[in-house]
Amino acid sequence: MIRRQKVRETSGSAVHPSELKLLNADVVRCFRCPRLVSYREEIGRVRRRAYKGQEYWSRPVPGFGDPAARLLIIGLAPGAHGANRTGRMFTGDRSGDFLYRALYETGYANQPTSASREDGLCLTDAYITAPVRCVPPGNKPSRQEILNCRSYLAREIEILQNVRAVVALGRIGFDAYLSLLQDLGLISSRARFPFAHAATFETHPGGPAVITSYHPSQQNTSTGKLTLDMLRTVFLLARELIEARAAVKPGAAAVETGK
Ligand code: SF4
Repeated sequence: MIRRQKVRETSGSAVHPSELKLLNADVVRCFRCPRLVSYREEIGRVRRRAYKGQEYWSRPVPGFGDPAARLLIIGLAPGAHGANRTGRMFTGDRSGDFLYRALYETGYANQPTSASREDGLCLTDAYITAPVRCVPPGNKPSRQEILNCRSYLAREIEILQNVRAVVALGRIGFDAYLSLLQDLGLISSRARFPFAHAATFETHPGGPAVITSYHPSQQNTSTGKLTLDMLRTVFLLARELIEARAAVKPGAAAVETGK
């Protein structure tokens, strides 16, 4: 188990926490997807019995983590009674418990649990986001909803200039990232990148390494399809790839956007 790592050497690329704040302010005010707006609010009205006394966030959930991150983690969408309740990515449900335990044990988080926005959790060198910021019924966003939300992911990637590795948690996050690269003209086809657990990809010259993982949904973790050891391995692999890039090519930008 690796816990707190030595303070990393930064690449010297500019990071823009204030731009992230502006982006996140836009995200939390978004009403682009009528079906998801209605669903996120309904969950907050009905609430699960265990959380009856709590006020649900029930808005889009912004990204969370270290603005200078070299690792970007792309999930799927907020959990109904997790992030949609607490307002922070992967916070307040079993998926989050699983993910943050793995991040803690690989040196990216200062604690293994994530209960609320006020619980003291900090990420170092990692930033968590999602291709869809509002909870979708059945965890299944429509193609149009993913498209509606894509500009937020694009802006985030543009702002997070130190990113050297992307971990995609599940096919939807992976596909959303590849679609973005395709839109930017950085890859010609998504078919060249088949999803598999712990697969690594060099998508385009100068871009971050990409590692794919099964999503830490309860369905995957309770059946043993994804174990803690498997997820730790993914983050350790990400760190290795990041360090290798730092050794070879310090100062390279994450994604060329032409801006
Ligand atoms: S999913 Fe994204 S685009 Fe759709 S309403 Fe939520 S924040 Fe807006």
